[in-house]
Amino acid sequence: MIIKNVRILGGEPVSIRIADGVIAEVAPGLDAPEAIDGAGAIALPGLVDLHTHLREPGREDAETVRTGTQSAARGGYTAVHAMANTSPVADTAGVVEQVWRLGREHALCDVHPVGAVTVGLEGRQLAELGAMADSAARVRVFSDDGKCVDDAVLMRRALEYVKAFDGVVAQHAQEPRLTSGAQMNEGVVSGRLGLAGWPAVAEEAIIARDCLLAAHVGSRLHVCHVSTAGSVEIIRWAKSKGWNVTAEVTPHHLLLTDDLVEESPVGAYNPIYKVNPPLRTRADVEALRAALADGTIDIVATDHAPHPVEDKETEWSAAAMGMVGLETALSVVQEAMVETGLLDWAGVAQRMSALPARIGRLPGQGRPLEVGEPANIMLYDPSARTEVDPSAFASKSRNTPYEGMTLPGRVVATFLRGRPTVLEGKLV
Ligand SMILES: [Zn+2]
Repeated sequence: MIIKNVRILGGEPVSIRIADGVIAEVAPGLDAPEAIDGAGAIALPGLVDLHTHLREPGREDAETVRTGTQSAARGGYTAVHAMANTSPVADTAGVVEQVWRLGREHALCDVHPVGAVTVGLEGRQLAELGAMADSAARVRVFSDDGKCVDDAVLMRRALEYVKAFDGVVAQHAQEPRLTSGAQMNEGVVSGRLGLAGWPAVAEEAIIARDCLLAAHVGSRLHVCHVSTAGSVEIIRWAKSKGWNVTAEVTPHHLLLTDDLVEESPVGAYNPIYKVNPPLRTRADVEALRAALADGTIDIVATDHAPHPVEDKETEWSAAAMGMVGLETALSVVQEAMVETGLLDWAGVAQRMSALPARIGRLPGQGRPLEVGEPANIMLYDPSARTEVDPSAFASKSRNTPYEGMTLPGRVVATFLRGRPTVLEGKLV
């Protein structure tokens, strides 16, 4: 199979020949009657998401492994990590193997289950981390995401435990007592609206503590969805010490701000903007962009969080927190980081494919598009302009904050080990 007329990382046009799921040749001018014409699209290694909520088992009304990975493929992803806050919680070898098996049977991309840190995400007792690591799912990323492992002793033990199998603890950094009942970012806007605020310090205090704990036990910490300028400073400091700390930012925290809660194209108090951690201020957005550009924040992760209509289209205080993100992630990153001159396409590939694969310890993903490497490839047309239409999403859920917005770029095709999962923007 040949994909012709593509520009790897935005370079000169070449053709890619694929044989047995592997890149067999990269050269200009290769052609064949049945070749797929990339029409000058940019070719990037298939994207890898370290933070996806697939909702199965338990909330198949919101998303399934099938629909969530269709959504991923449409976004250019070839691998996702499925968060553990399902029902039942993915806190045993049995549940992570169930999700892993669903992935093998029904998914359009690789599915790597994340294991819970504590039993039932309850923060009282460590889950069977070793059994999940040894299971068929070979779990390497552990997280109570949605909740914070706030007990310092449990967090220390988890960090110590995962060293045995080169795992990482991915923390949802949120001091629970400081955020109890919180509805949005604590600041000028929350004050005006009279909504209970979510102070930046609730995130920053846990990140600082966890960086110190990770250094103390010599383990690997990953910070989920960094959202404040102060968090960036702490992570920069931890990295300057040589500590093994990585961090992610979501596309929405790179683009949207908390004043949308007060005034937006879809009105005030629209729960489409309700998310955890909350949208912050313009100054936070600027700090997050700069941190992603300079490597302080390592990667972009979507925190794709599907919710059915009835859980989102309700009053602000009752609405579920979260946004879908897989199908718009690269367009939002183009808008926030590429159009602003902060990143080139090689930088995007690093932060949305190579580094997330490395943090998740996925040897067959995030590889450069070179001979001998697995043919995990996505083709992207950055010159397209697309109005976001949630009814066209493959996701079962529609809770996107970008509805009606015109975003740059379009995913043209996605190939998983040479097999097309998306062609001409449509699922195969
Ligand atoms: Zn989270």
